[in-house]
Amino acid sequence: PQKTVVSVPSLLKDTLLLSESEALMKGCEMRLQQINESLLVSIDVKQIKQVILNIIKNAMEAIEEVQGDHAGMIEIGAKQEGNYVNISVKDNGNGMDKTLLTRLFDPFFTTKEKGTGLGLSVSYKIIKNHGGTILVDSMKGEGTVFMISLPLTHQV
Ligand code: ADP
Ligand code: MG
Repeated sequence: PQKTVVSVPSLLKDTLLLSESEALMKGCEMRLQQINESLLVSIDVKQIKQVILNIIKNAMEAIEEVQGDHAGMIEIGAKQEGNYVNISVKDNGNGMDKTLLTRLFDPFFTTKEKGTGLGLSVSYKIIKNHGGTILVDSMKGEGTVFMISLPLTHQV
């Protein structure tokens, strides 16, 4: 992997810009919380952006699954936790039940007619290769939150 040192807020801002037009089209609001500028990570920027984009895309699709006049919302934040930064992506989409939660990182697992089921399994590998973890919490009918934890680095 091609690693570069980047600040977490700029990484998230750049990534959000890439999904802004799609969110607008789908009437889905995206919010980026205030994030400490001094949080730095040493990452393959292309790969980590891809992971976050995968998760945002899933969030938009989960929001589309909700019937009726539903105000879609995706909230992105990042907080320091010891030597790690926890990046969270929260949506108010359809959510998942327990059985689904145990399978979503499996390759080719999808509940979508035209899904590949590869987004999250590939994301899992990328985060693991970066020495991080990816966790999910979800409630059927309420929404989902993905948490990506990455090791922090110091400016060189
Ligand atoms: P795909 O999007 O092609 O189905 P993914 O690996 O990205 O493949 O996701 C696997 C499955 O996990 C999805 O089909 C969906 O059932 C579930 N999933 C992922 N993210 C969410 C989310 N934010 N809300 C609800 N379900 C989700
Ligand atoms: Mg997907």
